[in-house]
Amino acid sequence: MKNYFSHLECSNCKKIFNTNQILNLCDECGKPLLAIYDLESASKDLDKSYLLNQPENIWRYSPLLPVKNNKFRLFLGEGFTPLFKAERLGNEVNHSNLYIKDEGLNPSTSFKARGLAMAVSRAFELGIKDISIPSAGNAAGAMSSYAALAGIKAHVFMPKDVPTPFIAECKALGAEVTLIDGLITDCSKAAAEGVKNFGWFDISTLKEPYRIEGKKTMGYEIAEQMNWKLPDVIIYPTGGGTGMIGMWKAFDEMEKLGWIDSKRPRMVSVQSEGCAPIIKAFNEGTKHAEFWKNASTIASGLRVPAAIGDFLILDTIRESKGTAIAVSDKDIMDCTNLIGRTQGIFPAPEGGATLAAFNILYKKGWIKKDESVVLFNTGSGHKYFNLWD
Ligand SMILES: *Cc1c(COP(=O)(O)O)cnc(C)c1O
Repeated sequence: MKNYFSHLECSNCKKIFNTNQILNLCDECGKPLLAIYDLESASKDLDKSYLLNQPENIWRYSPLLPVKNNKFRLFLGEGFTPLFKAERLGNEVNHSNLYIKDEGLNPSTSFKARGLAMAVSRAFELGIKDISIPSAGNAAGAMSSYAALAGIKAHVFMPKDVPTPFIAECKALGAEVTLIDGLITDCSKAAAEGVKNFGWFDISTLKEPYRIEGKKTMGYEIAEQMNWKLPDVIIYPTGGGTGMIGMWKAFDEMEKLGWIDSKRPRMVSVQSEGCAPIIKAFNEGTKHAEFWKNASTIASGLRVPAAIGDFLILDTIRESKGTAIAVSDKDIMDCTNLIGRTQGIFPAPEGGATLAAFNILYKKGWIKKDESVVLFNTGSGHKYFNLWD
């Protein structure tokens, strides 16, 4: 099938780049680059009914993804995760229109698989041999999987207090693992040294343009799974923000393709009280978020004190008329267990955080009784086993 990837554009200064360049950030202003498609042509050629005979994984959206040649599309089973109607949980919280998108069923047990499948496939297509990533855990495992499949060398940098399964996974997948005494921002500094000294390609969140393209498939899937009517509210646990930004981009693309109308969900960003830079910036009405000092939370994917795409996350929340909310680690844990015992899903604490946010917003009346709400369980709880010690 034809591919519609046409160019890259800076999310801030709008400078344009061609698709065959190996690029990280904009060379003009240092901000993230976004992949742009020729949606005008695509809207003429691509009726959404083409999806009827596509495989049930992220590559069903290939014409609207950046990997041009089929032979570079790395596949381990990522995407098309189930969207469950959460009946028993709904009874418990007295809301009858609650859904859970269970991303824990992806390869490497988190939605990081989507972004890394795309970024590593593109790196493969562009002939890159060494890639590196700073990670709170899940991104490192996902990158290591796809790098192994492509025969690319993976260099991963994680905080040394990350639970052991995250480390074991990367080792088994053949990655070079470096543990850092610090947070993900310190891991970034260490990885940057390797990039500078050895010419590795940096696959950090939003520092290359393609992870977001993988994450945007969640937006396409929700539309498809809800019969092309988006929900009223999406609650998403935010770290670096690729999922939030990616889904918002997907909605925009689908409207331009004529696949959906202009109705959008209100996008809710949830973080932990121990690390809530986006929530603070949203409440204070600023364009960027300040660095969060002494970041700490059991939801390690949310332990991101500074996000390079902060302004894109904040724009998404505001444009969607959404909101941002911080929840306590205690509520995260209680809600993680509540999802578990009502729905039979073993969620990551980040998934539990979305229910904690729902409870607050529903009580406040910000979410109404009849509104459809999608909670994102972004990963499985298995690798966080020590939270139950
Ligand atoms: C990385 C991660 C997040 C945060 O995702 P972003 O798209 O970077 O905001 C949330 N949950 C889990 C389980 C993660 O691994």
